[in-house]
Amino acid sequence: MLKGWTKEEKDSFWQSKYNYYRKFNFYVVVLSCISSVSYWISDCQLFDRIAWETLLPRCFILFLLVPFVLIYRKVTDYRIMVPYSYFMVHAIMWGTIWAIVYLPDRTHASEGFIIMHLMFFAVAFCAPWKYSTIAHCLIIGNILISNLFNHYENLDLMLSLGIPCVVAICALNVVMTNVYVDQFRTKQRLEETLTIDGLTKVYNRNIFEHILVPGTKQFIPGLGDEIGIIMIDIDLFKAVNDTFGHEAGDEILKQVANAIQNVLRRTDVVVRWGGEEFVVVLPRCPMEKALYIAEIIRKNVEETDYQICRVTISLGVVAYDGADYLTSIGEADKYLYQAKQAGRNCVRNQEI
Ligand code: GH3
Ligand code: MG
Ligand code: MG
Repeated sequence: MLKGWTKEEKDSFWQSKYNYYRKFNFYVVVLSCISSVSYWISDCQLFDRIAWETLLPRCFILFLLVPFVLIYRKVTDYRIMVPYSYFMVHAIMWGTIWAIVYLPDRTHASEGFIIMHLMFFAVAFCAPWKYSTIAHCLIIGNILISNLFNHYENLDLMLSLGIPCVVAICALNVVMTNVYVDQFRTKQRLEETLTIDGLTKVYNRNIFEHILVPGTKQFIPGLGDEIGIIMIDIDLFKAVNDTFGHEAGDEILKQVANAIQNVLRRTDVVVRWGGEEFVVVLPRCPMEKALYIAEIIRKNVEETDYQICRVTISLGVVAYDGADYLTSIGEADKYLYQAKQAGRNCVRNQEI
């Protein structure tokens, strides 16, 4: 399963699967808790009176549900929320086992345990198959351990009904994962089409949606406290088009984008801002380092052999001030203009 994928790719795949089924998972846990509480009514039917003994075992899950709901709102990491969801459904199972201790007739426990497979199956939608296999096999463990004190009359039946269920559902979880692989690939391609510039293969402006705090114009904290911004413009590019044609201009644009990207880290973000203008966002990068990188970019672009003509760029560099990113880019554009005024093929920056 997921053969040849790197650890990072696998992580992003499982996180994406979790994100897709996150809401579904939440309702599975909440509704499973509520329905397990409602089984108290069937206890009353078995006792033929109000079953005070099983009231706490049936209702204690509500105490665990409150923190689950609160944590669900804050945490989106599948490595926390998937095990937590399985903890909740196991807790429901143990609540049932606790209630069974008091039941006058335990023969119906086998049916109850079969129904449990449903909620485990539903949680598996958002889970990596390894997590779901372990969590699901533990159902049989729960039955065997609780048999030590509950002494089920029909343990054989429970196992002969339960084990095929576990095997079938674990196999289905693997199939479900394969089905999601197709969806994940399609989503990835779609996202790429939306965020990658077709000509230069660097990002287009849509990438900012992914590096800004939603609903604001500020960079996400993940980019660090010091962020460098470089605005780049190809010098006298109109003349290149006029002299060598638009196609040659396109070829140069691609090569300049490559020359910029080749000297950067994987975490740096190169964006085609417009025609022959690029913006580079440098996470965790103080001003001196941003200036140094800008100079390296300038040099690399100048020294690249384009086989058409010599190409140079002008650059403006600023430190992001923590407010509106567009204001910082506007500032960088001002320094870029100064670089043009100073004769082009140079870097100008905000003095700090
Ligand atoms: P300056 O040094 O002052 O920036 O001069 P410039 O000629 O580069 O400036 P200007 O903004 O006047 O020209 C930009 C040119 O870039 C105009 C346009 O033809 C060209 N351009 C913009 N987008 C593309 C593109 O996708 N492909 C090609 N081939 N040319 C483009
Ligand atoms: Mg321009
Ligand atoms: Mg230009």
